[in-house]
Amino acid sequence: MEAEKMNHYKHLLQQHKENREDIIDDMETLSLADNDNHGSSELSNYDNHPAEIASELFDKEHQMGLKNLEEHELKELELSLKKIENGTYGTCESCGKDIDSKRLELLPQAKLCIDCAKEADNFIADIKGDKKKRRPSEEQVIHSSNLNDSARGEQFHDLMEYGSADSHQDRGGKIVQ
Ligand SMILES: [Zn+2]
Repeated sequence: MEAEKMNHYKHLLQQHKENREDIIDDMETLSLADNDNHGSSELSNYDNHPAEIASELFDKEHQMGLKNLEEHELKELELSLKKIENGTYGTCESCGKDIDSKRLELLPQAKLCIDCAKEADNFIADIKGDKKKRRPSEEQVIHSSNLNDSARGEQFHDLMEYGSADSHQDRGGKIVQ
């Protein structure tokens, strides 16, 4: 990659990095403010309805999840910046081809070319699809048990016919007698 392009992506990555850092800072400020508001009532949490505590915990876990995601993105951006330093930026980690510049413009921290990314997506979709494919086999099990039921039904039917034939015979016998 030319030095000029490399510089362009370096700036792009730094911009993205600063944005992420701002978001993480905001999240930390918000969660600190949240702690200040609820800090005094922390002891009285025991009087609160368990569902309220649970939803507060859920909110915190949700926020932490988002923060982890932002921090993960930040690490990805930092890794990409390191790649710019050692000159490996812009090549696909899977096939080694150059990553399309349009893709890098949208996703400067992209590790895979569009083809490998699609392949990875398809792989994930396949795994998800496999779960769907397993359902018919479950249906087959249900179907075979249906067959067993109908087979049992036939046996029952035979028994009924046999029984009715018996009773016919009985009746016949009675009639004869
Ligand atoms: Zn690739």
